[in-house]
Amino acid sequence: MDRVYFDNSATTRVDDRVLDAMRPYFLEKYGNASSLHVFGHEAFDAMEIARGQVAAAVNAAPRDIIFTSGGTESDNLALQGAAFASASKGKHIVTSSIEHHAVLHTCQFLESQGFKVTYLPVDSEGFVSEEDLKNAITPETTLVSIMMANNEIGTVQRIKDLADIAKEKGALFMTDAVQALTKVPVDVDELNVDLLALSAHKFHGPKGVGALYVRKGVKLRPLVYGGGHERGLRSSTENIPGMVGMGKAAELGIREMEESVDRMKAMRDRLIDGTLAAVPRAYLNGPPDEGRLCSNAHFRFDFIEGEGMVLFLDMQGIAASTGSACSTKSLEPSHVLRSLGLRHEQCHGSLRLSLSKFNTMEEADYFIETMPPIIERLRKMSPLGEGVTYDVPTVH
Ligand SMILES: *Cc1c(COP(=O)(O)O)cnc(C)c1O
Repeated sequence: MDRVYFDNSATTRVDDRVLDAMRPYFLEKYGNASSLHVFGHEAFDAMEIARGQVAAAVNAAPRDIIFTSGGTESDNLALQGAAFASASKGKHIVTSSIEHHAVLHTCQFLESQGFKVTYLPVDSEGFVSEEDLKNAITPETTLVSIMMANNEIGTVQRIKDLADIAKEKGALFMTDAVQALTKVPVDVDELNVDLLALSAHKFHGPKGVGALYVRKGVKLRPLVYGGGHERGLRSSTENIPGMVGMGKAAELGIREMEESVDRMKAMRDRLIDGTLAAVPRAYLNGPPDEGRLCSNAHFRFDFIEGEGMVLFLDMQGIAASTGSACSTKSLEPSHVLRSLGLRHEQCHGSLRLSLSKFNTMEEADYFIETMPPIIERLRKMSPLGEGVTYDVPTVH
């Protein structure tokens, strides 16, 4: 078995057709989109085609798409941009406790700037409750930001219901849809959202390029000042190859979505059923089926550490993750898992497998064969092993 890549929530392989579309914009059509000569026109036209492709993927108007350097910048532009632009109306923001750090740490920064932030809890499957949101919004609330699909446990929120509540109460609604696009239908009008963040490298596009949908009339303060690119919201010479790649990846991802989702779901279910059947004291984190990303299988195994599993799997050629790629270098358990009400040591025994259209059923079967002996070995080595008593407080 060749190397198996089950870490597609961290990043994905670029589609060959995306790379082919990008190549000319490095080598022949390398102009600056602001230039008046033919090189400039070529670059400008390519950028506008790409903007149209990204817009079409979320049913937006092309002029409402702002290209950025990625999901993190899109989240920052949405949150900081909206918070500062509407600070005279109020300084309260509502978000959830399971957001990506690009949202959470931006909210913490805004708190340091005098904003108040409410972090909504989630239930044991990762869902935000509509009732909690209703109760959290005050006349001071200008912005609600709830992610569409969670990058760790794969929970897909009922965004329309949440957005309706925020909009009814006069707040803007932002959603981080980085994990959702090409796996869940995303329609900015149907979802009733004002701001929506995307990142190309999560759907087989290049790294370092993202987009923010900004509904017409929504005021944002820019993060970056300069030549006035992207309607003044994001200055800097446009990353034409990146934009072209993102546009192509969005177009292909949407066109081929139905088929890839069906394939991923079948592999996901094989991984979940096979693993839970083959390994004792293994549990699924996140929703069982309804409301779960087609690409996500997230397990919890008693008595072991996620890091050990990732290293042993890597030796067998399987790339997986302990949960959030961003927090693996720290010993803090994932904020998402803790929000589900899991105890400290339960968080540590977690493993995320995230799929893409490039994975195969054979790879899923290989994982199911490979995993049980690894678990058995780790449990034998584990100081947390069966028969050992330990006392860990519940973490909320
Ligand atoms: C990956 C990710 C981001 C960050 O996107 P980058 O393009 O890597 O900056 C933000 N939100 C979610 C949910 C993600 O999965």
